[in-house]
Parts: sequence; structure tokens; C-alpha cells
Amino acid sequence: MLNWLRTLFPMSITSINPATGEVLRQFEPLSDEAVKAKIATAHIAFRSYGEIPLEHRALCMRKLAGILEHEVDELAAMITAEMGKTLVSARQEILKCALGCRYFAENAARILTEEPIPTEQNNSYVRWDPLGIVLAVMPWNFPFWQVFRFLSPALMAGNVALLKHASNVPQCGLAIEALVRRAGFPRGTFQTLMIEARQVEAVLSDERIAAVTVTGSEAAGRAIAAQAGWLLKRSVLELGGSDPFIVLPSADLDLALSTAVKAHIVNNGQSSIAAKRFIVHEDIFADFESRFVASMKALLVGNPMEETTEIGPLATPQIVAEVQQQVLSATRAGARLLTGGERREGSGSFFPPTVLVDVPRTVGVYREEILGPVALLFRVRSLEEAIEVANDTPFGLGASVWTREVDEQKQLIAELACGQVFVNAMVASDPRLPFGGIKRSGYGRELSAAGMREFLNAKTVVIADAVQQTEIAFEPREQEPNLHRAPFDAQEFQQAFRTASKTNE
Ligand code: NAP
Repeated sequence: MLNWLRTLFPMSITSINPATGEVLRQFEPLSDEAVKAKIATAHIAFRSYGEIPLEHRALCMRKLAGILEHEVDELAAMITAEMGKTLVSARQEILKCALGCRYFAENAARILTEEPIPTEQNNSYVRWDPLGIVLAVMPWNFPFWQVFRFLSPALMAGNVALLKHASNVPQCGLAIEALVRRAGFPRGTFQTLMIEARQVEAVLSDERIAAVTVTGSEAAGRAIAAQAGWLLKRSVLELGGSDPFIVLPSADLDLALSTAVKAHIVNNGQSSIAAKRFIVHEDIFADFESRFVASMKALLVGNPMEETTEIGPLATPQIVAEVQQQVLSATRAGARLLTGGERREGSGSFFPPTVLVDVPRTVGVYREEILGPVALLFRVRSLEEAIEVANDTPFGLGASVWTREVDEQKQLIAELACGQVFVNAMVASDPRLPFGGIKRSGYGRELSAAGMREFLNAKTVVIADAVQQTEIAFEPREQEPNLHRAPFDAQEFQQAFRTASKTNE
């Protein structure tokens, strides 16, 4: 870019403190040649990384956890300076990364163990092989955790990774690469690519890249998944959300209310799994509304570095402008503003905690994700109506439901269209549990065995007995009433299998 142009348009990879507007650092994007060199390094690393025993990888992963725990304060301060979440929550984020590392260090061997599957052959099983280089395109809102929840299972499984981090958190991206190296992982197993979004296409097109994981907006997910589909590369998408928080009359209202506020202001309201739509039964609506609004008004907004601050700035001025626009379009269409609604003047990207009620179904914002501290309240007359409102969104990430009635719990669990339902608790990711969504919240899973296996080849291995054909090992079934009878007994199965296997598919 020409120098005079650069003075008009600052480099796109720029670290700016959203609390003050101060430019912290700027980075030149890598040239195409430099990107290719990093892909080559990753490619070489993958070939030898597979030779490193799992126990050794686990040792490095535990060391990584140890460094994170030891340097929690410095790392948290870097997060807060780059994207504005409170220092308190940034510390929790770093400690959660350490927890994730420890979980996969402890559990990788179990998840990667070959799975024997009895067939009529001598030996048949599934083994889990790494795919190669996985490209991770990541967002700014949890600049460490989003990366670590991919990184720790991926490296334990023997994959290597390239990170394209969001352009407003470049220092976090570089810090993660340095931490991985210090933990003892070989050179090239994890590298941060200082690139712009437009360069992702070329990286993904490189035949040495095996797969891609994207956490971010629908637009980014669509663009990258379309390309991955064309290239026939595996992809996982963790996209936006507009999670419902349903409160029914039997709920513990005090606990539901305090959790509602906490679940809404996660990351200053900029979390895909923040509770965004509060769907409350009419019998308790008035009480919920007045107490919820009072709690939102009482939140302390300010300098995120202060220990007592509850809401910091939003990550960028653009996000503030978008949130402001969404609130305006809702109120213009007839929604009532119960608190907040106007961005704070002056330096810093601050937006106050806001509550809207009676948002008409016809207005676009009813079905959009609002990435800020703006809560929408809905009054419903029945459980069925609550489920209908909850599902009336293009997203399907998580849902938090509050009721002590077991039948209601069962119905909600079965009928809510989303990737995770939390009963009498707020939605949260946990290394032990699969995390992900359906509909336009994306596909695939992160965390747990399910997440680890997204980037593994489930290789089927069948070793026939070289000397003699063994008889099928199934026990004959006991006589069962016809209604419940298994469709085939062992002999029938063998016969059907012989016929079917003539197709060789
Ligand atoms: P974003 O604008 O989509 O950016 C995410 C990443 O994608 C960034 O690294 C960005 O790079 C890159 N990117 C954007 N457009 C791209 C394109 N066309 N091609 C290639 N790369 C592209 O999203 P964000 O604003 O950072 O993050 C907020 C969104 O993430 C929200 O919708 C939130 O709900 C979602 N999210 C989902 C989860 C989940 O687990 N489901 C978790 C966290 C966040 P640049 O920064 O350089 O543009």
C-alpha cells in the first residue's frame, strides 16, 4: 500500500484498546511467500509429529497448562487491553484454557484408543488417525479460549495447526504461538498467520491444508464453508446464536434472575451463548421484568481493568454502531425500551446494559443476533408458546430453561431446536461435553471426544484370518415377542451381509 494511503487507512491488523481508543500495535499482513513458507513448515512438522509418543504430547500439554496458570495475570491483561472484556473474566478465560489442556492431556489416550468391532472376520476395529494441517479461523470474543478449545484436542490427536486470528487481537494470536513453543511442542506444530480475511482463501486452497474450523459470524462461515465444500475439505462451523432463557412459574426465581443477568453479560454481552432472549411465563413476568431491569441498571460499566467493573467496552466502534442501529430499528417498530439504549459519548466503545420488551416479530432484529448487552424480554402464556418463541430464530446454539417440573423439563429438552439445553443452569462450554449448534449456528462439534474426532480419520481396519474363515461370533438371540424381535438373527445377518457386500460399497 502506498504511504499516503496508509496514513488514511491504517493497517487492517491493528490492536486498539477499546476502552480508550489508543492504538497499541499494528502489523503488516504476511506476504503470499511468507504464508507459503509457514505452510511448508507445518507440513514438515506434521510428518514427524506423528512419531512423538502420546505421553510426550501430554507432557507438553500439561506444561502449557502450567504456563497459562503461572502467567494468568499478564495474559489476562493482554486480552482486556485488546478486546475490552473485564480483567476478572479474562483471568477466568485463561484458567479455562489451562483446564482444557489438562482435560485433553488426561483423556486423549482414551479417546484415541482403537475401537474393536466384532465381525465374522478375525479382527476388525476403528483407529483414529490425524488428518494433517488444520486451519483455524477464529474470532476476537474469547481470544484465547476459542483457540485453545480447538488447539488442545487437535495437537493431542497428532494434527498440526495454523491460526488466522481476528484482526483486532493480533497480540493474543502471537502470544498463543509463543506459549505453545515454550511448552515444548516441536517447531511448526502451531503457527499464527498474521493475515487478513481475504488471504484465507489462498491458504485453504493449498493442497497441504487438510481441514478448516471457523468460529465467527454467519458471513465468514458461509464464505469459508463454501470454499471448503468445493475443495472437499472437512469443516467445522461455530457461528452466531440468539440463545433463549426460558423461565416458567415453578422456577427458583431468585436463582433464575441472578443467573439471567450473569448469562446475559458474559463477555459484555458479546458471546454466542450469552442468553439473549428472555422468555418468561405471564404468571411471573411482572416480577421477573422489574427485578431484571433493576439488576441491569445497577451493573457497573467502566474501565475493564478495574476489579469491580462488571461491563467493559464493546470490542470495536463498529460493533457499538451495529448494536445502536439494532436497538433503534426495534424501537422504531414499536418495541419499548426499559433501560439503556443510547451509546455513551466520549472515548471508548461503551454501550449501556439495555432491555427491550414487546419487540414485534415482524422487525428484522427479532431474529438477528445482537452482539452486545441488549436483552429482549418476551411474555408467554404456556410452555408450548415458550418453545415456539424459543425456536423462532434461524440460530440453534444453546438454551437455558428454568422449571422444577420434570415433565416440563422433558418436553423442553426434546423440543428445543439447538445443540445444548441446560436445565436450571446457564449455558457454558465444558471440555468434557460436546459443544456446537444446529441451523445457522453451524455444524460439527468442539470439545469432548466428539470434538476431537472432527479432525480425525475413523479408519476402518479389517484383518481376515489368513488360515481359516471364522464363523460369525454372534450369540443366537433368545426367543423374543415378534414386535421387539431384532430384524436379523446371526445367520440371517450373515446371509444378508453376503448379498449386500456384493456391491463392495
Ligand atoms: P467474524 O467477523 O466472522 O470474524 C471471525 C474470523 O473470521 C476473523 O478471524 C475474521 O478475520 C475472519 N473472517 C471474516 N470474514 C471472513 C471471510 N469472508 N473469509 C475468511 N475469513 C473471514 O466474526 P467476529 O465478529 O470476529 O466474531 C463474532 C461472531 O462469532 C458472532 O457471530 C459470534 O456469535 C460468533 N461466535 C460463535 C461462537 C460459537 O462457539 N458458536 C463462539 C464465539 C463467537 P478478520 O478479523 O480479519 O475480519
